[in-house]
Amino acid sequence: MAEQRRGASTTAIHAGEARQKLGDSITDPIICSATYTFESSQAVIDFIEQKQPREEYGRYGNPGEKVLESKLAALEGGEHAILYASGMAAIVGVFMSKLNAGDEVVFFDECYHRSREFCAKHLSRFGVVTRQVKACDYSAMEEAINDRTKLLVSESPTNPHLSIVDLEQFANLGKKHGVDTLIDATLATPFNAQPLDYGVDFVLHSATKYLGGHNDLLAGVIIGSAEKLEPVRYLRGIMGAINSAHNMYLLERGLKTFELRMERHNANGQAVAEYLEQHPAIERVYYPGLPSHKHHELAQRTMRGFGGLITFLVKDADWKKTAEIVDRVELARIAPSLGGAESLIEQPLIMSYYECTPEERRSYGIPDNMIRVSCGLENTDDLIADLKQAIDRAMS
Ligand SMILES: *Cc1c(COP(=O)(O)O)cnc(C)c1O
Repeated sequence: MAEQRRGASTTAIHAGEARQKLGDSITDPIICSATYTFESSQAVIDFIEQKQPREEYGRYGNPGEKVLESKLAALEGGEHAILYASGMAAIVGVFMSKLNAGDEVVFFDECYHRSREFCAKHLSRFGVVTRQVKACDYSAMEEAINDRTKLLVSESPTNPHLSIVDLEQFANLGKKHGVDTLIDATLATPFNAQPLDYGVDFVLHSATKYLGGHNDLLAGVIIGSAEKLEPVRYLRGIMGAINSAHNMYLLERGLKTFELRMERHNANGQAVAEYLEQHPAIERVYYPGLPSHKHHELAQRTMRGFGGLITFLVKDADWKKTAEIVDRVELARIAPSLGGAESLIEQPLIMSYYECTPEERRSYGIPDNMIRVSCGLENTDDLIADLKQAIDRAMS
């Protein structure tokens, strides 16, 4: 259950944790147990008849997982959270539990490429139809809804274009047509946006990114009402996409500094975006914190900050010139992912869309001169100086 809503740092540090723990430890113990013992046959019967909340077997739960799930639910202002082994496991888990053959899903087309792939290539194998419509085109989304539609899905901000969804309009579309809504808010985090407040049914995060925050774990979480999540939890117990006890400890530890980290990610993102926008060699910067962003006003109204992820286009550069900038950057490391302490940089053409045809890339809005940078927690001036030397040297 969600605790009373406090500041993000207080919630991230304390929510879900017992005041007094095993061995009087201030940190939660890592319980490495594949199974849990019963005192007697009667204890098994009592458990099955739900007289006694407790653990049973590792695939169904772990005490550390319960702490984390309460913490994440409280951070998001939701009733219930279910933790998964990765963000994709969470996406697959919710889709597989909510959808039957013949059902339809409508999603905005700017999205994590593996989410798109799961919908287009795999849900279809089970007779589920997915309809992609242009991101933030609410009337196109409404037109795509019919009596078989079961789920409306979007990211906000979207990846890599950082478009911002009008969460109220999105949630209202779902309510009007009796369809559940899901926002993948990985790029926003519960520090920067709270989609449940607008009436969205499910919020999903790749906790691999900002929630874990240290580029050292994978995890995913889905948050919503206990009632709507009940079948999702049940299926997770069968699918088994769960975390090890050590992984959950790392996530809990990462969350202790969640608010502090987000403040720095937001500050670095804003400063680097402003720097890039005024650089003569940069054609365009996608960052919701810039007045030039097409959803800046909406972002300002509905978000506390805009995160560390920035996408930009290099002026008059082919893919090679663009790659040269990436290669000359010294601090940010070349890697997929985002949201960790270490800044990361990539050219979407090469990193995630290399095997797509040029037509596919055009339809996804991935030009050759696009760079995506995830600002980590380094010193702001150092990040800017590093990007400056890389751009200036590559473009001279
Ligand atoms: C990374 C990411 C995912 C997938 O999460 P994993 O933890 O890598 O499985 C899903 N959605 C978004 C927006 C992401 O950035």
